[in-house]
Amino acid sequence: MVASCVQSNPLWPARDRFPKLEGKSAADIVVIGAGIAGMSCAYHLSSAGYDVAVLEMDELGSGATGASSGVLYYGSGTNFVPAIGLFGRERAALLWKETAEVIEDIARTIAEHGISCGLTREGAIMAAKTDGEMELIRREHAALEEIGIKTTVLTAAQVAEYYSPSGFLGGLAFGTCGQIHPGLFIQGLARSAGIRLYENSEVTGYRREGGKIVVSTKAGSVSCSKAIYATNAQPCFGMERHFRLESSVIIAGEPVADIGRVWPKKTIIWTMEERYDLIYPQEGRLVLELYRLEGREQKLRHYYPGVEFRIDKTWGKAWAKTSDFMPIVGEVERDVYVAIGMGDQGIIMGWLAGRKLAGLMGGKEPDWFLDLASPKRFGHVRT
Ligand SMILES: Cc1cc2nc3c(=O)[nH]c(=O)nc-3n(C[C@H](O)[C@H](O)[C@H](O)COP(=O)(O)OP(=O)(O)OC[C@H]3O[C@@H](n4cnc5c(N)ncnc54)[C@H](O)[C@@H]3O)c2cc1C
Repeated sequence: MVASCVQSNPLWPARDRFPKLEGKSAADIVVIGAGIAGMSCAYHLSSAGYDVAVLEMDELGSGATGASSGVLYYGSGTNFVPAIGLFGRERAALLWKETAEVIEDIARTIAEHGISCGLTREGAIMAAKTDGEMELIRREHAALEEIGIKTTVLTAAQVAEYYSPSGFLGGLAFGTCGQIHPGLFIQGLARSAGIRLYENSEVTGYRREGGKIVVSTKAGSVSCSKAIYATNAQPCFGMERHFRLESSVIIAGEPVADIGRVWPKKTIIWTMEERYDLIYPQEGRLVLELYRLEGREQKLRHYYPGVEFRIDKTWGKAWAKTSDFMPIVGEVERDVYVAIGMGDQGIIMGWLAGRKLAGLMGGKEPDWFLDLASPKRFGHVRT
C-alpha cells in the first residue's frame, strides 16, 4: 500500500496499489486502462481462462470510474422512449432488459467475491420539475410497462416521502436500481479474481512481431495475441472523433446528524434536463452531482433549502459520450479492440462491454449489442 493517491474521489478511493510493468512479459490478452470497462474485460476474460495483463497509466480507478457516483440504472444514457427512436423498439427493449439484468449480475458478482463496495439497492427516482416533464414521465412509464419493466409514477407528495425538500411535481420510481462505489468494486475484482494489473504503466504504443502484438510502456512491454484499449476519453484510433467529452462534478457536504430529515429514504434522484443533476444521501452526507460546476451555489440552495450545506469535498473527472449514447466496442484493427465511450450509464455499460467482448473473443457471434456498439457504425471498417 502506498499513501499517495491520484484518484479524484476522496470518500471511497481504491487503496490497493499494484506494481509497475518493468522488463519484458507475456500474456494472452493485454487490456489498456483500469476503469470499469478495462477491468470488466479483464475479469470476464480471466474467468474464461485467458492469461490477462492490465496496463494502467496512473492507478486503478484513477479515471472516471473512481470518480463516479456509481448509480446503476438501465439503458445507455437516455430514457427508454428516446431509445426506441434511436435503436428501434426491439433493440431498445433488449438494451433495457439486458442492462436490468446487468445490475443483478453486478450484485451477484459482489456477493460471490465478497467485495465491500457500498452496494445499495434503494431504487432511484427520475423527478419532474414541469408539467411537460410529468407528461414524459407518464409516457416513459407506459412504454416500460409494455416491455415488463415495472416503474411507479409518484405524486409530488410521494416524492417528498423520499426527499423532504422535494419541490418536484412528481417522479418515476425505479425499484431495482442501486449504487456502488465503483473504484472499490474494481479493486475488489482485481484482488478476488487475481487479475495481473500494472499501475504507473502508460501504454505508448504497440508493434506487431512474429504474429504477436507487443504492447509497450516506457519501462517494459507485454507480448500478447490480442489487445483491448479501454482508455475512455483518450484519443484512440481516431475514434475520438465520434465522442465528446463531458465532465461531471460531485459536491459532498460535511456529515449531518439529522440526514433522515432531508432524506427519509436513501434513494437517488435525478432531474430531466439534458444535463441533469443528481442528488442523494451518502454516508450521512448530502450530495449533489452536476455537469461541471456551473450554478453550484444556486443549485445547492435550490436542492437543499433551509439546510446548512457545508461543502466538504468536491471532485470530478472527464468521461466520453457518443452522439447515439452507445459505447464503442469492437475490433478496430486485426486483433486490436476498443471498449471506450461508456457514457452516462458508464458503470453498467462498462460491465456489459467487458462481458460482450469476452464472449466475442471466446468465439461467440456478435450480437445486437456488439452491432449497436460497433466501430463500423461510424464508418470504421477493420483493415
Ligand atoms: C463525477 C462522475 C459521476 C458519474 N456518475 C455516474 C453514475 O452515477 N453512473 C454511471 O453509470 N456512470 C457515471 N459516470 C460515468 C462513468 O463513471 C464513466 O462513463 C465510466 O466510469 C467510464 O469507464 P471507463 O472504464 O471507460 O473509463 P475510465 O474509468 O476513465 O478508465 C480509463 C482508464 O484508462 C487509463 N488510460 C488512459 N490512457 C491510457 C494509456 N495510454 N495507458 C494506460 N492506461 C491508460 C486511464 O488512466 C483510466 O484509468 C460518472 C462519471 C463522473 C466523472
